[in-house]
Amino acid sequence: MTYVDLVLQKLSTDGEREALVGGDTRLTRSQARDLLFRLADGLVRRGVRPGDGVAVFIGNTPEALLLTVAVHLLGCRLVHVPPEPGPKELAALISRADVAAVVVDPTFSDRLDGWHLQDLPGDPVERTPAPGFTTVSYTGGTTGLPKLAVHHERTSTRWEALRQLPPSTMLCNTLITHGSGAGVSRMALVVGSKLVLGPSTFDADTFVRLAVDEKITMTMFVPPMMYEVLDHPDCPGPQFLGVSVGGAMLSPHRLRQAVEKWGPVVFQAYGMTEALGISMMPAADVDLARPDTLRTVGKPVPGMEVEVRDGDVWVRGPMVMEGYWGEPPLRETADGWFDTGDMGYFDDNGYLYLNDRSKDVIVTGRTSDNVYSRLLDDFLVTLPGIRQAAAVGRPDEALGEVVHLFLVVDDDNAVDFDSIRDSVVAELGELYQPRGVTILPQLPLTKVGKVDKRQLRSLFR
Ligand code: AMP
Repeated sequence: MTYVDLVLQKLSTDGEREALVGGDTRLTRSQARDLLFRLADGLVRRGVRPGDGVAVFIGNTPEALLLTVAVHLLGCRLVHVPPEPGPKELAALISRADVAAVVVDPTFSDRLDGWHLQDLPGDPVERTPAPGFTTVSYTGGTTGLPKLAVHHERTSTRWEALRQLPPSTMLCNTLITHGSGAGVSRMALVVGSKLVLGPSTFDADTFVRLAVDEKITMTMFVPPMMYEVLDHPDCPGPQFLGVSVGGAMLSPHRLRQAVEKWGPVVFQAYGMTEALGISMMPAADVDLARPDTLRTVGKPVPGMEVEVRDGDVWVRGPMVMEGYWGEPPLRETADGWFDTGDMGYFDDNGYLYLNDRSKDVIVTGRTSDNVYSRLLDDFLVTLPGIRQAAAVGRPDEALGEVVHLFLVVDDDNAVDFDSIRDSVVAELGELYQPRGVTILPQLPLTKVGKVDKRQLRSLFR
């Protein structure tokens, strides 16, 4: 059995219960089941066969989510097309992914040709789910050579345990074509929760409205989303049974704020496109009296091996991809091990801490020392008046790179760079001394809502 079987089991019971909500669409379980089979039928009628690649260029809608499940039901290779790429990258991705079909949400049809999602449904022909399938996700890469992470799923052992969880009302804030959004929405369907899909581009106003109107009990954020919600004048109170946050460095200061606001329900998850779940810090273990519990990303999730080698986090296990599309599988080249590109360490009790992404480390000074930009970001937001902070390396002839700060502040006129610099040096030492600052109305975010340090660095090139 795969997760698709488990989803069908839930959709086949209590048919009148609401299952999926997004935009103006509301589907009961039986309506969702019907549409799932119709979408699968539409694909089959157009000639899609098990094993074929089907690229989906879709937004966060109930129909689009069911399309992804339909592709898996047929035993096909689902290729998630992310919204970021420009036309050239998009064309390169599609040609590299070797697909038999492309399905597009009509709102994206000016950017890519394909079958329109709304024309796809055929008849509600019941089909037995295929025993296995593949998911391929884009992870960037240099132009013309997109990197595509391939995950196989043959059994549902990792989903089986979820079946026992009590259903909730889940709000998904990230894209369903990205690891976190895809994972959370499948989980909700497996558990039999009602799933509310937030808009493709997150906004805190909509979150606040949906949280109240839909009586949301579970949700997940990428950190900048959570910060916006915490800063929102109508930020909801303690209504959640679980709040998951992950996908980028989480400021301990903001985690504390979230726990104070919502109670002991906030848990941190660490994962990436190439390794969907690496570690987790349960909400119950986050102790406001012990700052280390606010910094750790927790312990490896069951079945995952995590090692720190020369400061880099390496992982192996069922949540790790097979490899990149078109390249030899990891099990052949590295015995299944994958270098995450994150730098970290374990404490004596087996908790994992991340210092920085290796490409975000600022290498500075005559001895080329490492400044962990993450430490600096976390410290800066504890200073009065600073709402968000991103430190990046600015090229410098003498020192290689120097620390440059991008800040979002409460009041532009109240920013005193000298005192910020003095506080940084007092807390983190001379090495961390910022040499420049830019005040921005907001930090640039990637399409999945993470602070886009690459874009900030590109301002200096
Ligand atoms: P992506 O492949 O776009 O999902 O990005 C994965 C990267 O996000 C990881 O390699 C980490 O650098 C970062 N990341 C994910 N979860 C966390 C977390 N809980 N804390 C810190 N960084 C994280």
